[in-house]
Amino acid sequence: MSMIEFLPEVADFLNAVQGLRIDGQRVAAPETIAVINPSTEAEIARVASADAAHVDMAVAAARQALSGPWGTMSGHDRGVLLWRLADAIEARKDIFGQLDALDNGKPFYKARDVDAVYSARHFRYFAGWASKIEGRTIPVSEPGRFNYTSVEPVGVCGLITPWNYPTLMVAWKLAPALAAGNTIVLKPAEQTPLSALYLADLALEIGFPPGVLNVVPGLGGTAGAALAAHKGVDKIGFTGSTETGRRIVAASTGNLKKVSLELGGKAANIIFPDADLASATDGAFWALFGNNGQSCTAGARLFVHASIREQVLAGLIQRANALSVGPGMARAAHDLGPIISQPQMDKVLSYVAQGEAEGARRVAGGHRLDQPGYFVAPTILDGVSDAMAVAREEIFGPVLAVLSFEDESEVLARANATEFGLAAGLWTNDLSRAHRMAARLQAGTIWINTWGDTDAASPFGGMKQSGYGREMGQEAIALYSQTKSVWLGIKESDLI
Ligand code: ADP
Repeated sequence: MSMIEFLPEVADFLNAVQGLRIDGQRVAAPETIAVINPSTEAEIARVASADAAHVDMAVAAARQALSGPWGTMSGHDRGVLLWRLADAIEARKDIFGQLDALDNGKPFYKARDVDAVYSARHFRYFAGWASKIEGRTIPVSEPGRFNYTSVEPVGVCGLITPWNYPTLMVAWKLAPALAAGNTIVLKPAEQTPLSALYLADLALEIGFPPGVLNVVPGLGGTAGAALAAHKGVDKIGFTGSTETGRRIVAASTGNLKKVSLELGGKAANIIFPDADLASATDGAFWALFGNNGQSCTAGARLFVHASIREQVLAGLIQRANALSVGPGMARAAHDLGPIISQPQMDKVLSYVAQGEAEGARRVAGGHRLDQPGYFVAPTILDGVSDAMAVAREEIFGPVLAVLSFEDESEVLARANATEFGLAAGLWTNDLSRAHRMAARLQAGTIWINTWGDTDAASPFGGMKQSGYGREMGQEAIALYSQTKSVWLGIKESDLI
């Protein structure tokens, strides 16, 4: 198979053991993490693994940077730096694309044209916000009092990110946190630390003061846990599993740091018989198989009206069998890459087996591909019922569960019968039904006749156990700021 050649910058980056990035310095650590390419199962790089002492150093550097030039920098100047970072990411989108294709395994073209380009856009959107963070003047009832608010950064933010979109998930948190004037200790996922480290170098190069962005790759239970519990951290922004989210909340209680969480999902996607079936089938297919099902918004529970079930199912199976799956760095543009790791692949395959044991019918895929790398054939399970594990638990892999329904109120109740509430969607040409359902579905994002859209300007986050806080849009600025209320007594007598 023909592979894309490494860019010289990428080859150099992979050859040097990557140290932690603390206070503008590269810091070696006694322990290292082997970064595995899931497309080949080969080790591609070694990265320093932070322990609690390194996290201490990084938090101290971030604290110090709050009282350095960054602390007094105007919103305008922070915005200029963020905009420059956006331009730098875009100019190096091939490098970011290769780094994400290598440690995550996703197709290079998607890593470059979606993940890297949307990360740049994210920084650009929040560059605009940096100079527009305003307080209010509040008319209070007591005479002789003047009250106003000022909006300040929270302080030192610990950002903990997952492996499914290595650059983009960092951008989602980092851009608003920096726009609001915070300093950062970033702990990327241990499977995918490369682009976060590269981003730290880029930020330094274009003029962010040392200590503003520190990166401490390491294991979740070590570096992540130390960051979540650290008394010098004012806020944790986390994206990952619901189980880890619970641990982070528990660890945060020592200093009652602020926490925002974007957690798991098990999104319901509903096709009504009045929908445009070709686009609904296509949309429902990519709702799950986009990013290989490794997405917290994956449309994992597909409810299809009984009257159109056979037609939709045939379209889904045909699409699944036509997908091309291959290494992230393949020259050919594959639709999907591998699963992130061996344990994750084993988990996905065991869910398929459990689904079949509980009575679901496997109508596509369900097996590991006979080649190196953690590749699983796109899988569809038909005849899934609500009680099955594959309908209740987040699989985070290319497994679509198809369920059938008879009427609107029934499917609404079943769609909402989940502990998760990140996203939900429906396909219909009935405008009233679209609005009725959008109002009643319990999820932070609702997609109607579309799926998966996000935008730096539009708030995103979970209801129920999918988390709290909203990223993106003006909500994200609030998430990384705190409001101060200032009172001034005015001597009325001076006026007379
Ligand atoms: P997954 O199981 O898919 O890897 P996780 O929620 O465990 O998802 O991982 C998301 C991020 O959380 C990663 O950066 C991981 O290292 C980190 N993490 C895992 N465990 C902990 C923990 N106990 N405390 C803080 N961070 C953690």
